[in-house]
Amino acid sequence: MSTAIAPRAQTPDVAGQITYAMRSMGVAAIPRNYELFYEAYIGSNPTLTRELAALGSNATQEELDAIGAKYFSVHAGRIFDDAHVRLTTELDAILRALRQEQATLESYNRLLGETTERITSRSNNSADLLRNAIDMLTVATGDTMAQGEKTVENVAQRSQEMDEVRKELDEYKRIANTDALTRLSNRRAFEDRLASVFGNRLTRPTTALVLADIDHFKKINDTHGHPVGDKILATVASILRANVQRDVFVARVGGEEFALILEGTTVEEVTAISERIRRALGTTPFKNSRTKIDYGPITISLGICMGSEASEPGELYKKADLALYCAKNAGRNCSNVYQESMQKDFTKSWLIYKN
Ligand code: GH3
Ligand code: MG
Ligand code: MG
Repeated sequence: MSTAIAPRAQTPDVAGQITYAMRSMGVAAIPRNYELFYEAYIGSNPTLTRELAALGSNATQEELDAIGAKYFSVHAGRIFDDAHVRLTTELDAILRALRQEQATLESYNRLLGETTERITSRSNNSADLLRNAIDMLTVATGDTMAQGEKTVENVAQRSQEMDEVRKELDEYKRIANTDALTRLSNRRAFEDRLASVFGNRLTRPTTALVLADIDHFKKINDTHGHPVGDKILATVASILRANVQRDVFVARVGGEEFALILEGTTVEEVTAISERIRRALGTTPFKNSRTKIDYGPITISLGICMGSEASEPGELYKKADLALYCAKNAGRNCSNVYQESMQKDFTKSWLIYKN
């Protein structure tokens, strides 16, 4: 097993080696497993690599996910723990300041009450007594105001510090939801978004999911190398983004797979948008201006499914994926809307494949 995921210098096809290692370990070719194996391959975390190797070829998905959860969420866990400690400290300080302010106000209030009582309980107040009372109140008012100013300053400083913690958390959230290579939303953000959009019963029927997968991408990697593949992925991502409105959610959900979530749309509109994207990509030149090597044409296949076809997000995803599978089967470089009959066709082609 360890040899299966160890880098092999003689071939530059990193992605190919990773998929080979996954296949030879009987691991499902899903993005989160690819991520795990990629991490093991690049060797930046030797413990992860060792643990993955120790699983051998009978690893269950749960065991793989446990390693993923252990190493990929450590960073998030630490940031949140740290933020929690800092926020609690700031809040404690604010509470202390406010309590102190409350005590000062209470004692000022008491003093006011006692003085008023003393003055009003006597019918003939001497000038000295009144002067005394005024002096006492002046000092107490000054003290109370000074204490109030200190509290305001203290609370202002604390809330500024809390603002910084919040900004850090926002920035982390942005990083945690962004795919580093393409700058699109990542799978985690996609799943959250799909669940929240789909969760709204009213807008669900007019919500569309489009899954797009680059055609024969493995060949690009095999022919030109993984770094070229990466550049192409980033360009494809920007073409997707540039060909839809700002409110369309675009994510990279797997190695060379993208997803779009459109709200308030119709099947006709989403089909037209998918076709526009497909044509835009197919007609974009992918030529290296320095070496003159032409990597193109780069094409994609797309699967479309409307929210009305599913009762939960997982089902919507599966149906869009089936439409995509049919688009691949139909010769690639095309888009397909999910239809009930695809279920039968899928079983049929799967049976043919099994025989
Ligand atoms: P199909 O038309 O059926 O989709 O063929 P394909 O070759 O695109 O599909 P397949 O799923 O067999 O291969 C996808 C390849 O994408 C496998 C891997 O080499 C490559 N890949 C996945 N993630 C990355 C990545 O982050 N960078 C690069 N360069 N390649 C990646
Ligand atoms: Mg794919
Ligand atoms: Mg592909």
